[in-house]
Amino acid sequence: MEATNTQVRTGTIPPVVAARYALWTFVIVNLVIVEALFFTAGTGKNGVLTVAKFFGMHAALLLLCQLLLVARLPWLDRRIGMDRLTVWHRWVGFTLMWTLLTHAFLVVLGYATLDDASMTKTFFALAGVPASLFGMLAAAIVVVVAAVSARQVRRRLRYETWHGVHLLLYVALGLAFVHQLQEPTTFKTSAFATTYWWALWLFAFGALVTGRIVMPLWRNAYHRFEVAEVVRESDNVVSVRVTGRNLDKLPARAGQFCIWRFPGHNHWWLANPFSLSAAPDGRSLRLTAKAVGNASAGLRNVPVGSRAFVEGPYGAFTALHRTRPGALLIAGGVGITPVRALLEEEPAGDIVVLYRVRSEDDAVLIDEVRTLVAARGGRLHLLTGRTGETSPPFEPDNLLALVPDLAERDVYVCGPPAMTSTVLSSLRRLKVPQQQVHAERFGLA
Ligand SMILES: Cc1cc2nc3c(=O)[nH]c(=O)nc-3n(C[C@H](O)[C@H](O)[C@H](O)COP(=O)(O)OP(=O)(O)OC[C@H]3O[C@@H](n4cnc5c(N)ncnc54)[C@H](O)[C@@H]3O)c2cc1C
Repeated sequence: MEATNTQVRTGTIPPVVAARYALWTFVIVNLVIVEALFFTAGTGKNGVLTVAKFFGMHAALLLLCQLLLVARLPWLDRRIGMDRLTVWHRWVGFTLMWTLLTHAFLVVLGYATLDDASMTKTFFALAGVPASLFGMLAAAIVVVVAAVSARQVRRRLRYETWHGVHLLLYVALGLAFVHQLQEPTTFKTSAFATTYWWALWLFAFGALVTGRIVMPLWRNAYHRFEVAEVVRESDNVVSVRVTGRNLDKLPARAGQFCIWRFPGHNHWWLANPFSLSAAPDGRSLRLTAKAVGNASAGLRNVPVGSRAFVEGPYGAFTALHRTRPGALLIAGGVGITPVRALLEEEPAGDIVVLYRVRSEDDAVLIDEVRTLVAARGGRLHLLTGRTGETSPPFEPDNLLALVPDLAERDVYVCGPPAMTSTVLSSLRRLKVPQQQVHAERFGLA
């Protein structure tokens, strides 16, 4: 059972560790089965094709692991967090690309050796065989997606462009499935192999469809989310409160975020993640957004009464991961939103909040934060200043001066990527145990 809102977990396996065990068990069990299938299926037409088969089978396994990592399964997401799952998805993705390319290269080399033909001639001959062609197309899509996901390219692309290209992976998935189904070295090697590969594909694909399509559609049909209030917090920050039916049944927690669409107001493909800026009370959900681009800036014009399509809640930045009675909450700029929500859920007292902003005028939701901290008997430090100043507040010594007992606390950090990285590095240098450190990055990929 999960810890309730204000419990501090003691003596049990930390949720994140339990989820990692579950994932590793899944990976290891499947690796053992795949190795067993490989070694019992006999060799290929030559040594190179045998090795090619080895890489092909592992590429299929990696592809199916990818589906699980992005399926947004609530149990995994709440324990590991979508940001960390996305980082793993990224690394598994690059591994998948190299495994696929090695497989493809060895298949061409294997047949070229067998037929005593050139690699180019063999490549085009194989492209004429539907099963191979499907595999080649799937591999080509994976390479294109990996190329646009490389940091240097990704930074130059609009989120929507990158995401649109990424969606081609679903086409690759279909092509890879047909490829694997048609070629003779996996599904067709034995009755057990057929059952195993069907079960694995159905499980991974079922998880993806459930997490990405069925659950969001069902939740939106059930809750019928609707904009109840739009409040301008400042020139460039707006809060939107959304109500719906039976919101007490929505398993949302303070610190989590949702992916929001406002159909009729924005294009249907525009979906943006925003944290809950108030703890869910069973009657409404609130987001608070800083205007960055068109979608966030346009929120101030969303009409009250319009429908909202809400995916989630997602994220592991919650009190589920509390290990200590004391907490230090660190927010930078609009990163205050999940921290503000967490303040409503935290146990009374022994709370310190560090809120970093350029100037006091930039401190979004500051009145609410002050009231909540005071009500909890906590301490708030509003740290004003700019990046690059001579004595940055999140350097280890300065952090320690502000909160001398920080190693005894759970530390929650949310802010711009650079600030979050500085804080995390200082916490490492101050030897704060990793299980006490919880970060939310406002970036998924
Ligand atoms: C988990 C999470 C929680 C967040 N919570 C808040 C919050 O509470 N308040 C707040 O003001 N901001 C929050 N953000 C940031 C917010 O999502 C972006 O500022 C917003 O989506 C920008 O969209 P835009 O179209 O207005 O701007 P654009 O100019 O289109 O986008 C600016 C940048 O925002 C990012 N972005 C845009 N769309 C998405 C998307 N669908 N998924 C991931 N990143 C995207 C991209 O890096 C993009 O380059 C959060 C982000 C994440 C990942």
